[in-house]
Amino acid sequence: MEYQQILNTIKLELPSLSHTGQVASYIPELAKVSSNKLGMHLYCINSGHYSFGDHEERFSIQSISKVFSLTMAMSIFDDELFQRVDVEPSGNPFNSLIQLEYENGIPRNPFINAGALVISDTLISELKNPKQDFLDFIRDITENNNIAINPKVFRSEKECSFRNAALLNLMKSFGNIKNDIEEVLDFYIFQCAVEMSCKELAIAFMIYANGGKKLSNSTQVLSLQKTKRINAIMQTCGFYDEAGEFSFRVGLPGKSGVGGGIAAVHPGQYAVTVWSPPLNPKGNSALGMYALERLTTLTGYSIF
Ligand code: GLU
Repeated sequence: MEYQQILNTIKLELPSLSHTGQVASYIPELAKVSSNKLGMHLYCINSGHYSFGDHEERFSIQSISKVFSLTMAMSIFDDELFQRVDVEPSGNPFNSLIQLEYENGIPRNPFINAGALVISDTLISELKNPKQDFLDFIRDITENNNIAINPKVFRSEKECSFRNAALLNLMKSFGNIKNDIEEVLDFYIFQCAVEMSCKELAIAFMIYANGGKKLSNSTQVLSLQKTKRINAIMQTCGFYDEAGEFSFRVGLPGKSGVGGGIAAVHPGQYAVTVWSPPLNPKGNSALGMYALERLTTLTGYSIF
């Protein structure tokens, strides 16, 4: 497959599209990122790396971190984890309180904020140094020891995380948060503040394309069955309340974040990431979605 040629075509097409989206501003520090940033990186199991644009510049991974925390939790726990968080698409905004109230504090899935907060709670109960362990996990699958958080983004979100605090309080009232609310919030915001480039994210996401194994040395990070399940949750819940639209247009499991990143995989083939900060009204990178739609169209392959 001529991936570099296909990426070059996508690169040429993208600037001609009007920037319809808005850079996320509810976390003030994210609003400072240039809306013109644009990068794409594809890491193929058989033939290596392809890229264009700002693919080596780090950005705030935000909710893409939810895939990593879920992976850690699923490698520790078995099915009991899913008594505290479901695996159904929510059809609601990612930080909605409404569904949580009438579903008795059990979040719809691990990729909405409420679900990721429960996952963070389970990790705090189990790990001695959750923040360090989280960074170590990402550093391990990326094989890069200097991946870190952006402290400004961390502080910026801490100052305005009233809604996530509300979600935690509501779930605590239903008995679905076991640890101190401040501690869970702090750990969750830490995860969202990690910065990675498209290239680093594509390397990290290779485990989901490669049956749970690192490509470099075949270490099994997560079992094949659990990897299959994470990919299924990415497919059905990875794009806020636009997961159906993403499946319809792109046809790959993936996860987006309000930093404008999208990471996706074609199991058995490649991991691919795009970064473009302006978001569409549902919170997904507008150009990122378009780039991935063109990728599966031009290659002629998606998972469907
Ligand atoms: N830290 C963000 C929040 O909790 C993550 C949002 C996202 O990327 O979906 O609001």
